[in-house]
Amino acid sequence: LDECPSEYKVLVIGGSGVGKSAIVSQFTTSEFLGASDVQTDAVEQRTSVSVILNQEESVLELIEENSLANLNDAGSEKEVDAFMLVYSCADRGSFRSAQVALRRLREETGRGKPVMIVANKVDLARKRQVSQDEGKNLANSYNCKYIETSAALNHNVDELLAGVLSQIRLLQCGQ
Ligand code: GDP
Repeated sequence: LDECPSEYKVLVIGGSGVGKSAIVSQFTTSEFLGASDVQTDAVEQRTSVSVILNQEESVLELIEENSLANLNDAGSEKEVDAFMLVYSCADRGSFRSAQVALRRLREETGRGKPVMIVANKVDLARKRQVSQDEGKNLANSYNCKYIETSAALNHNVDELLAGVLSQIRLLQCGQ
């Protein structure tokens, strides 16, 4: 499709310490990574990766944010194509923050845009504070997708990257 863009912005949002940087850094070694390079701007916490999915290349710019409050200041929310809302399943406080952020996303900035709920650190099974059901219920009640990841073990991280890109393409390009 000619009108289908090939560059997208994804906001990776979640409390400090939930693993956003660790996830994005695993993206830069993904099996879906294109031949072209990875670009990072450490100061702004922006990383661009070229992703090849279904033989088509897209560039995803991943912007890390600790708080939705920063969004309005940056004025960038309208440019964002999708959200990865990350919490640590070993930190209930980060789940509560995700609940608040999701409500805001759905009511304001992110209305109608794909949101992936990411329960990270599933490797910390014995320290788990947020169950799979709680995460799934949150996602279902706001019509979002849910995925469990471990950036430490590189578990489901490629699936997260591919999942968000396919949701964006489905919405914007119908494919
Ligand atoms: P950010 O503040 O959200 O960007 O979080 P970081 O990516 O800096 O991660 C915070 C801490 O959690 C670091 O010590 C990471 O090594 C650790 N971490 C990140 N992801 C995981 C994970 O999946 N499992 C475990 N056990 N630790 C993780």
